[in-house]
Amino acid sequence: MSMSQTASASVVSSPAPSNPPAITEFCQDFADKLRTVDYQGCLTLNLNQSIEHKSIEHRPLTYKEVLPANNQPPKGRILFISGIHGDEYSAISISYLWLQTLLSPESQTQYHWLFLPLANPDGLFQSPATRQNADGVDLNRNFPSPDWDELAIRTWKNHYRMNKRRYPGPTAASEPETQWMVQLVERFKPTAIISIHAPYGLLDYDGPEHAQPNKIGHLKHRALGTYPGSLGRYAGEHLNIPVLTLELKSAGRMPNQTEINHMLNDLETWVTEKIEQKEWDL
Ligand SMILES: [Zn+2]
Repeated sequence: MSMSQTASASVVSSPAPSNPPAITEFCQDFADKLRTVDYQGCLTLNLNQSIEHKSIEHRPLTYKEVLPANNQPPKGRILFISGIHGDEYSAISISYLWLQTLLSPESQTQYHWLFLPLANPDGLFQSPATRQNADGVDLNRNFPSPDWDELAIRTWKNHYRMNKRRYPGPTAASEPETQWMVQLVERFKPTAIISIHAPYGLLDYDGPEHAQPNKIGHLKHRALGTYPGSLGRYAGEHLNIPVLTLELKSAGRMPNQTEINHMLNDLETWVTEKIEQKEWDL
């Protein structure tokens, strides 16, 4: 093959062949469900999938690692979790846009991101989408906080009156999606965890006090507290990792583009000012 043929072949080559069938199917489902996601764009992300874990309905549990440009050493590790609740469309949509931004050639990120675009694929891909996974478990009550055995079921019965949307599961970390996220926390050892939800319109924070945020975009800090089996109680209070939870104002409507960009910048600034510099001080 001549040089010119090689060059033109690389220009027209589609990213599709490098994606395994499970990811191709995932991207098709993703694009069918959300207006912000287009099929080719999703394929271009070249998402990775967990080898050890799949969702209850055997969908891939996908992730993408992002590193700083120019081989700069990362200044910290951010675990970003989107779509723990499958029916929070705006949170999942905005995360997809942020992942595209982080992977773009213009990205200025200084961090090593482990980015989970959709932690609960079965929830989003049901019709209609569900908060819980395909077992009917609220994954954000299924994390193995030390008080799970004593309090998770009791809190669900007494505090939530057995509301199905808050069912914590039969045992701590009973669900494959939870087991996968716990494994990532243990292996990646994040400097910070960011998770995104809707629709309370605020910032929640759990973890060491020095990293408490002020604002991310228009969202202001207001402590919601944690629950047995929630990510905040497990990773923030138990493991002492800063856990920032964004609650967008609407589950159905996205913030505008300026606000979307502003929020991603603010997230990195939060890590820089509240976590990275604090570590230097110690
Ligand atoms: Zn949520």
